[in-house]
Amino acid sequence: MLIQDFEIHPIFRTLSTSVSGDYLRELALVKRFCEIYRGDDTFRAGWHSHPEAALDSAGLALPHEQLWPLVDSQAPGPLAPAVSRYLAFQQEKLAWREQLRSQMRLTSPGLDAWRGRQIQRCAWQLAAGNAEAIFHPPAAFELARGCSVGCWFCGVSAPKLADLWPASPENRRLWKETLEVVFEFCGPAAAHSFLYWATDPLDNPDYEQFCLDFHAVFGQFPQTTTALAGRDPERTRKLLRLSQAHGCLLNRFSLSSKRQLRQVHEKFSPEELLRVELILQNKESLGALSAAGKALSRIDPSRAHATTIACVSGFLFNMCEGRVRWVTPYPSGPQYPDGYKVEAEAHFESAAQLREVLAGWCALPARLPSGAVPRWREDLTATLEADAFRVHDSQRGVRFDRSWHPQAPELAALIGEKSVGELALQLAAPAAETVLALQRLYQAGLFA
Ligand code: SF4
Repeated sequence: MLIQDFEIHPIFRTLSTSVSGDYLRELALVKRFCEIYRGDDTFRAGWHSHPEAALDSAGLALPHEQLWPLVDSQAPGPLAPAVSRYLAFQQEKLAWREQLRSQMRLTSPGLDAWRGRQIQRCAWQLAAGNAEAIFHPPAAFELARGCSVGCWFCGVSAPKLADLWPASPENRRLWKETLEVVFEFCGPAAAHSFLYWATDPLDNPDYEQFCLDFHAVFGQFPQTTTALAGRDPERTRKLLRLSQAHGCLLNRFSLSSKRQLRQVHEKFSPEELLRVELILQNKESLGALSAAGKALSRIDPSRAHATTIACVSGFLFNMCEGRVRWVTPYPSGPQYPDGYKVEAEAHFESAAQLREVLAGWCALPARLPSGAVPRWREDLTATLEADAFRVHDSQRGVRFDRSWHPQAPELAALIGEKSVGELALQLAAPAAETVLALQRLYQAGLFA
């Protein structure tokens, strides 16, 4: 694509190596500038008084005049090529995530429809930015019990590290068989699963081996998020290379202090971190924390940008415990302090046992059966009006009038009391119209 007199290459999803080293270098430097600006208050203060000196001290060979639009929406244009390319790179990344969220399909029709309803529910219950950032992958696998990092803000309340799951021959056999069973129910979407939850992947010395096995089964290398990038930089560097050599588009480092941010920038070059998102959790950062898990009662809610960090709508495995839970994100609160609901839980020792468990969970109907009695979601209330009804919680609502269904209020009055088949027969409106209306409410995630 040619914009004015400079080119922008879509390099995020293609992992293109055809662009020049200068292009990549400049892109990576602009990314680093954004990270330092967001994460380091000392740099920010210096930048606003002496931008050239601030860039110099950070080792960023970039013209400061070009960077202002990245930190000040009122800065005059036009955008410099380096900034336009960086923004395009970011846009590509967001578009990729949105595509995963909206176009991912699971093999099991019941599971796929359920995931779709969870996406709709989250769009209602979570803040827009929080909901849009969740792409609802179908599985996550813990390869340890607990986490050695012990972040005070851990959004999923990870306990202390107590156990690791080694890549012994028996475990690797069960691992591959587990992945194959997950594939049976999720299909190619399973490749977007990842190998951590309330764990740090790098706690497990065999993590890379499990990733390679994952790649052998799913054809994709799992994305890594770690707070331990700086513990053994050489190992981290090798993992980044390994993942990118196997087509992994993006990894993430979680950083909880300004010191860690500086260390990571010292240990890894801008180019090495081009495909690594830095999650800035330090107190000086402009990024806000999530009010979930351990942070739920400890941070100022006005600083929180999200109420859950959980993202899986599907199966959450702990391989140490041979345990699988069926989970989906929920806003954190007294009922779901760690930001997700557990729909069901089971233990397994073999692929056959796991298959039986997942088959039972996935047997849920994709559409409302005619014998089912639909009920409003537990956080919702329906208020009847003369020619309509409103479904609402304390924050928001949606109105359905007679143009949606000729007997909208009469239908709403009976929800929770009659089955789909009974409602279709009881109302004077055509039965097919009533069934369709109920299906739409169901798909919109408004029913429990
Ligand atoms: S946030 Fe991540 S790294 Fe920190 S304690 Fe929780 S699981 Fe461990």
